[in-house]
Amino acid sequence: MDKLTRRRGGNGAFVRAAIAIGAAVVAMATAGCSGAAPTAGDGGHGKLRVTTTIGQITDLVENVGGEHVQVVGIMPPGVDPHLYKATQGDISKFEDADIIFYNGLHLEGKMTEVFEEMAERKPTIAVAETIEPASLIEVSDNGGKAYDPHIWFDVRLWMVAAETVKDELSRLDPENAAAYEANAAAYAAELEKLDAYVRETIAGIPKERRVLVTAHDAFGYFGKAYDIEVRGLQGISTASEAGSKDVTDLRDYLVAKKIKAIFVETSVSDRSITAVIEGARELGHDIAEGGTLYSDAMGEAGTPEGTYLGMVKYNVDTIANALK
Ligand code: ZN
Repeated sequence: MDKLTRRRGGNGAFVRAAIAIGAAVVAMATAGCSGAAPTAGDGGHGKLRVTTTIGQITDLVENVGGEHVQVVGIMPPGVDPHLYKATQGDISKFEDADIIFYNGLHLEGKMTEVFEEMAERKPTIAVAETIEPASLIEVSDNGGKAYDPHIWFDVRLWMVAAETVKDELSRLDPENAAAYEANAAAYAAELEKLDAYVRETIAGIPKERRVLVTAHDAFGYFGKAYDIEVRGLQGISTASEAGSKDVTDLRDYLVAKKIKAIFVETSVSDRSITAVIEGARELGHDIAEGGTLYSDAMGEAGTPEGTYLGMVKYNVDTIANALK
């Protein structure tokens, strides 16, 4: 009993991975008779149908899958994944998929049951849960133990997520494994460059001004990886609203540290951040709004910020310009 509970509760990623392998074997056996990848009914060489949650993962799967996948992301720009509930249309998209990628670690906190149900039928992969716990940031969750889900803010951890996507696509569609391998290698080179750019740009901000204050605690991995102190008004999730004590605590911290700029996020209301700025002003300390950052959601499709590479670069430039 204890063993069962531990496996289900404490090691969800392992169980999901095992389910994924099982489902992949079934899928390969089915595809085996025609010798082709699962078809989308387009008459030609079928594409793998992939359904994803946040834009960052949609973009990642498109980069690794290339022409062999058809990716449908359910969360549009500006949407907060912590609060997002799957619609009936989203459920259909999950049902139509050959494979599902989501972040996990409770980022999509209102969708847990959907993923559990889908995992019984098809590979349903939580990319953040394939990262070894030693690389994750532990946070307290109402006294219990949990991990910070915002792994995409450490580009090196996102490279691990890219490996996971490559491995899972290859397992399900071994015919195109060489293409996934090549795409993943090309994308890893881009991520490598991005990681160096972030490191260099943040290091250019004088150490005493290297403090990133945002609406919610999305930037923990960013701070750890790139040596910048981070502080959010709300916690790791946006599910509980900032109280008046959170606002006054943050105000006092900013005044004491003489911090000049704080940031809002596209997917989180800026009401409480505005209250902090006004509170500090009443105490005679002027704080500027340093700009809007893409935290849990990316920018509009077709803009540079609508890609992971562009979003991270935009954030870093915005932070550096405001704090320098
Ligand atoms: Zn978040």
